Amino acid sequence: MTSSPEPDPPPGSAADRPPDPPTDPPPGSNPALTPDLLRDIRADLEAQLAKLEKSMSVTEEAVRPVELDQQAVGRLSRMDSLQNQQMSQNLQERERARHAAIQAALRRIEEGSYGRCTSCGSALHPGRLMVMPEVEHCSDCST
Ligand SMILES: [Zn+2]
Repeated sequence: MTSSPEPDPPPGSAADRPPDPPTDPPPGSNPALTPDLLRDIRADLEAQLAKLEKSMSVTEEAVRPVELDQQAVGRLSRMDSLQNQQMSQNLQERERARHAAIQAALRRIEEGSYGRCTSCGSALHPGRLMVMPEVEHCSDCST
């Protein structure tokens, strides 16, 4: 029984060298989001926030109680203004929700957790983030 010693594998062969391990992205970050893209998204969020705050102050005016001109305006136009007020209140709710969502997104950028679903942690598609930068859930969790 003669067994020749196993020949050493040539250096650098794939046999005993595992391929380079994939560089793990830091937890919480989205590898698809490059710093450039993140900067664009952040600028977009800040611009939207500024615009929203402007329109919120207009809405604020519109939801003021409509009692002042009871004498001056007729019944119909009073109903109109009540209806308008109702619509403005709905608008205000939507604006407030969006305001909170944008601020939360900016906070996630600060914390480095932006771009991931806040429920399941999966990476959000950058295309989706560019359309709706304040989105916080993946399509699975947003239903
Ligand atoms: Zn999710």
